[in-house]
Amino acid sequence: MPDQILDLIRREQSFFITTHISPDGDALGSQLALGLFLERLGKQVTMINSDSPPYNLAWLPSIDRVQLFDGSLEQRHAIDEADVSVMVDLNAFHRLGRIEAAYKNANGVKALIDHHTNPEEGFDFLFVRDRASSTAELIYDIISAWDASLIDTDIATLLYCGLMTDTGSFRFNSVTPRVHRIVADLLERGDITPAPIHTSIYDTRSRAGLRLLGLALDSITTRYDDQVAYMVLSQRMMRETGASKDEAEGFVNYALSIESVRAAVIFTELERGVKMSFRSKADTYVHKWARHFGGGGHRNASGAFVQGGITEVIDRVLNAAPRFLQLETAESSDELSIEDQSYLETLLANRS
Ligand code: 5GP
Ligand code: MN
Repeated sequence: MPDQILDLIRREQSFFITTHISPDGDALGSQLALGLFLERLGKQVTMINSDSPPYNLAWLPSIDRVQLFDGSLEQRHAIDEADVSVMVDLNAFHRLGRIEAAYKNANGVKALIDHHTNPEEGFDFLFVRDRASSTAELIYDIISAWDASLIDTDIATLLYCGLMTDTGSFRFNSVTPRVHRIVADLLERGDITPAPIHTSIYDTRSRAGLRLLGLALDSITTRYDDQVAYMVLSQRMMRETGASKDEAEGFVNYALSIESVRAAVIFTELERGVKMSFRSKADTYVHKWARHFGGGGHRNASGAFVQGGITEVIDRVLNAAPRFLQLETAESSDELSIEDQSYLETLLANRS
């Protein structure tokens, strides 16, 4: 039970709340729901993030309350002087992006509310449950333990977004009867319906985003007897389609949706290296694989960033797969097959 966090809320007056880079539905939904709840209690709340919301979350209730970090004295002062600095939905400081230093130097109590495994050292206060479906579930627990009648339409919508997006629309292993009970309570208390929320989040793609999806689908390659699949998003694909990076959110799930595939990775080529998103089906875990490359996350959804050229990174990451996944037959190969290699070369050709 979140008793200690309730004490902290009772005791302190001003709160700074932040979340991870490339914030998703759970990050923003949890941050804003907590912020609105604290404001209803008469607390002073400042919310600042390193990155702006993706295109499909720009409609979230009170999203304008979240400032983009600009390094100004005013913002630094708000961060420094808050009684409590809360980080939601991440457990590694470097995932705060440009806010990392300001957060670490803040004077207030450092509190973490999160559902990832293995939090980094350095917090004064933890409310962490790694089996929780989402951070939104923990925020729901806090608010309902305080006074569930504070869950209004806005808070219910925000928490619903967090739960829905972090459970892949209520289909992951983390979905329990309790998750559905929470959702039922949110729908009733907030007097909200799911359909428009799903539409706003999932049915608002641009044509450019769909063209990017087409190229990403074409790039799907499988290894290890079709048990591991990967996709590539090159800078060239981004340029050619004109799609924004946030439109690629969720693409990796198409690779995972192949029947025989147990784990999938999408490699996104960035200026200085490669961002990877790992996903797996229920009984296959990818977090140790991601951790091996300096990343982390959940058992079935992890990420990492590595420096290096994309072909070399793909090679290294795929070759390491059998060490971290319990594959049925581990065909061992140290190199990409000739087809994979020539395919990748075509895909990445003419990069400027
Ligand atoms: P995504 O693939 O959507 O970026 O991230 C999936 C999960 O992996 C998220 O829950 C996130 O916490 C974690 N994750 C993504 N990138 C990184 C990273 O670079 N480092 C760590 N430690 N975790 C990451
Ligand atoms: Mn989350």
